[in-house]
Amino acid sequence: MSKGNSNPGKADIIILGAGVMGASIAFHLARRRPGSIVVIDKDHVGRGGSGRSSALIRMHYSYPAEVQLALVSLHIFQHWREIVGEPGDFRKIGFVRIVHPNETEALKLNVGMQRKLGVNVELLTQQELKDLEPDWSVDDVELAAYEPDSGYGDGAGAANDFLSRARDMGVVYLPRTHVTSLSVVSGRIRGVVSDHGEIHAPVVVVATGPWTRPLLQLAGCDLPIETEYHQVAILKNAPGMKGGGCACIDSVTATYFRSDGNDKFLIGDFYGQRGVCPDNFAQRPADEALEEMIERACRRVPKLENAEVMRGVTGIYDMTPDCRPLLGEVSEVRGLYVCSGFSGMGFKISPAIGVVMSELLLDGKGKTVDISAFRPSRFVEGCPIKAEHEYKDD
Ligand SMILES: Cc1cc2nc3c(=O)[nH]c(=O)nc-3n(C[C@H](O)[C@H](O)[C@H](O)COP(=O)(O)OP(=O)(O)OC[C@H]3O[C@@H](n4cnc5c(N)ncnc54)[C@H](O)[C@@H]3O)c2cc1C
Repeated sequence: MSKGNSNPGKADIIILGAGVMGASIAFHLARRRPGSIVVIDKDHVGRGGSGRSSALIRMHYSYPAEVQLALVSLHIFQHWREIVGEPGDFRKIGFVRIVHPNETEALKLNVGMQRKLGVNVELLTQQELKDLEPDWSVDDVELAAYEPDSGYGDGAGAANDFLSRARDMGVVYLPRTHVTSLSVVSGRIRGVVSDHGEIHAPVVVVATGPWTRPLLQLAGCDLPIETEYHQVAILKNAPGMKGGGCACIDSVTATYFRSDGNDKFLIGDFYGQRGVCPDNFAQRPADEALEEMIERACRRVPKLENAEVMRGVTGIYDMTPDCRPLLGEVSEVRGLYVCSGFSGMGFKISPAIGVVMSELLLDGKGKTVDISAFRPSRFVEGCPIKAEHEYKDD
């Protein structure tokens, strides 16, 4: 089939959103040739949170299904050319997880669980961490988890690659097409209405990131997804700083950071302002907020004090109460599926999300990884996800 951009009027499956999630679902569905698929985006591929992502790739989670999703995804990132057919942009720089000193026991138990699931992860002593990252100040770190195979990628690039290959396999892509309502008849989805007309389909997947809640409300379904504003700083390495160092999530300074190429450094924050509109937020981070965040990161990497801030990135997370995604059919409307609420952590699992969502749609359940715990109804059922050895800031 050829690439096409005009409204086909009907489809077997409609995917709303051309971020990493919608694009990955389209790619993995198309590989199994399930019929006609249409991807719709009100803007363009990768222009939502995906194109603003810090794109850290790590396996360290406290909930086993998330570890499995990250592992399946790592394999795809590592073999991007063979699987997706494009060069890809995975940078293997390694990843370190530093937790609060009183959570060292949980760290050990989580590393044990991850190793059982097949993650290449080890515990580093203070001296071993100092040897690995001489620029870091680690006097307060007794033990850290280290994943040599992890690193970072490129959110817009991954979304573009998935969608481009999906289109090669016949998926229709409608950019700059705003879906304004969902057609529901007798409790069943019938299609969507957009500013470029109506499209009928018996299955609709909503992968619209922070725009998801108001969209689903149009179909009488209210899921607890809140927006959260985040700011990221990109600095030029200070003279004498080691280039290409590991990525790190550091609970003590409440920052995450990573090298960005060999000459730059990226820093992001754990927390942000809630309730910010995803269509109207500050595109430039506030100077004071960046200064305060960089100051915290400096406690871990003191040489950053002399690093020049090159630019900032801002973006919106789609947060759920347990900070885990909502994956599955909504209980109110048959045929209406949600894939959203990634709570600032979706990029690294997006390849596997495409795999399991396509399994859910075509086989009735996630086979590669059991995703039933992520069902959208879990909060009304009183079953939020809680890991056995969860960290305070998981
Ligand atoms: C600053 C920042 C840093 C991050 N860092 C990391 C990280 O280090 N590691 C990690 O794993 N994750 C990270 N994330 C999270 C990750 O990037 C996201 O979870 C992921 O990109 C979400 O992808 P998505 O496809 O669900 O949403 P999006 O990329 O936001 O895509 C949603 C799409 O839906 C479209 N849309 C919305 N409403 C409609 C409508 N009505 N009609 C048609 N189209 C519509 C939008 O235009 C958009 O393109 C970060 C996110 C941000 C913002």
